[in-house]
Amino acid sequence: MTYRYDIAIVGGGIVGCSILSALAQKGVSNAVLLERLDLTSGSTWHSAGNTTHFGHYSDITKLYADSLEFYLATEKATGNPIDFHRTGSLRLATSQKQLAEYESLKRTFAKLGVPFSVIDGRDAGQRHPLLDSRGIFGAAYTPADGHVDPSLTTRALAKIATICGAKIERNCLVADFRKNGTNWELDTTSGTVSARHLVLAASFWTRELAMKADIDLPLFAVEHQALITDDIPELISREDELPAVRDPAAPCNIRQEGNALLVGVYEREPKFWGTEGIPSDFGQDLFPPDLDRLEIHLSRAIERMPVLGRCGIKTVINGPICFTPDGYPLLGHVDGKHGLWLAAGFQVGVGTGGGSGQYLANWIINGKPPYPLPAVYPSRFRSPLDKSECLRRIKAAYSGSYVGASHRG
Ligand SMILES: Cc1cc2nc3c(=O)[nH]c(=O)nc-3n(C[C@H](O)[C@H](O)[C@H](O)COP(=O)(O)OP(=O)(O)OC[C@H]3O[C@@H](n4cnc5c(N)ncnc54)[C@H](O)[C@@H]3O)c2cc1C
Repeated sequence: MTYRYDIAIVGGGIVGCSILSALAQKGVSNAVLLERLDLTSGSTWHSAGNTTHFGHYSDITKLYADSLEFYLATEKATGNPIDFHRTGSLRLATSQKQLAEYESLKRTFAKLGVPFSVIDGRDAGQRHPLLDSRGIFGAAYTPADGHVDPSLTTRALAKIATICGAKIERNCLVADFRKNGTNWELDTTSGTVSARHLVLAASFWTRELAMKADIDLPLFAVEHQALITDDIPELISREDELPAVRDPAAPCNIRQEGNALLVGVYEREPKFWGTEGIPSDFGQDLFPPDLDRLEIHLSRAIERMPVLGRCGIKTVINGPICFTPDGYPLLGHVDGKHGLWLAAGFQVGVGTGGGSGQYLANWIINGKPPYPLPAVYPSRFRSPLDKSECLRRIKAAYSGSYVGASHRG
């Protein structure tokens, strides 16, 4: 038996569920999401859930702003909590050049109505008493930033999608697909699915899936580590949650997690994973922690926040994160493959997933993007990149997080 839909989405992370939810809320109920295990089984379940608004130009900032708005609207519509903490963020300037760059973004944020200011080092230190602000030239302050619970948010998105009539098939692995007439035909572990539009939203698995249609995508997974400290006495006694800090010099992000700190590190020498293919037995897994690799970065973070040097580490999360050579996702139609869409390569999938879901849903429904956003179009990689060149550029994008035109959350 063949199950027929207008739209099939592969992948039940926060991105796939955002697309399904946006489609269903716009009246496309004959849509299905196919997930090989349960929802959030890829990167989403172990994400730190940070939702920043920091983008280097207005359309990227808009993706961030739309995402949080979408999640909060979903929480309201479903009654399912997403556990949003509005803490604000400080993106430190460790050079005069960075500070000038932040200054130049003021107009972008003003245009979108997203609160944004550039503050001096003293002000940054006052807003974050654990920060050693010596040597900081200033900071970009985005008070609407915060963090959500990624799994709760994904489930809320899934709930509104099903309320609006869309379907979700769990334990349904898409093993192969092909064009059959005007439709895409998918072989799944639950039978054959046929759909006019097919969206590949399977994160780092998307590379292998796309190869079924002879498409060589420039995306690979990197091991990404975040650690949670033991409880910190200075935090136990606080009433308000501290703003998140992003330090381009480490580079790392540090935010409060309960009475502890959560530190996400972008390693200088990132370790790639699954470059020869994602192991078929990879379930909902993490990698063993490797603190040695973090040492150089943590010593920099301790200089910035000395309390980190005095507290123990409770947990280390080392999970796969998907990257493209320029750090932006592949979002949009695949040239020359009618009805085939990509929503993959998200390294800030929580921060940008909701807005991206709405963007793609509008594009599929109306046949044209809601507004031009060439930075994410898959067509920007005109011809397949040589694998070693692709890995070299991903390494540069990953290790250069928070510097220049990167937009990592
Ligand atoms: C330690 C860590 C911390 C992070 N912190 C943040 C953060 O603070 N903020 C932020 O924005 N991002 C963060 N990220 C990144 C974020 O987790 C990802 O960008 C996001 O989860 C990607 O979502 P996704 O839906 O694209 O992919 P995934 O969540 O990986 O979902 C893909 C889904 O596709 C399914 N799938 C794969 N192949 C098939 C198939 N053949 N058939 C059916 N289903 C299939 C998988 O099972 C999976 O559920 C972090 C990542 C890590 C590792």
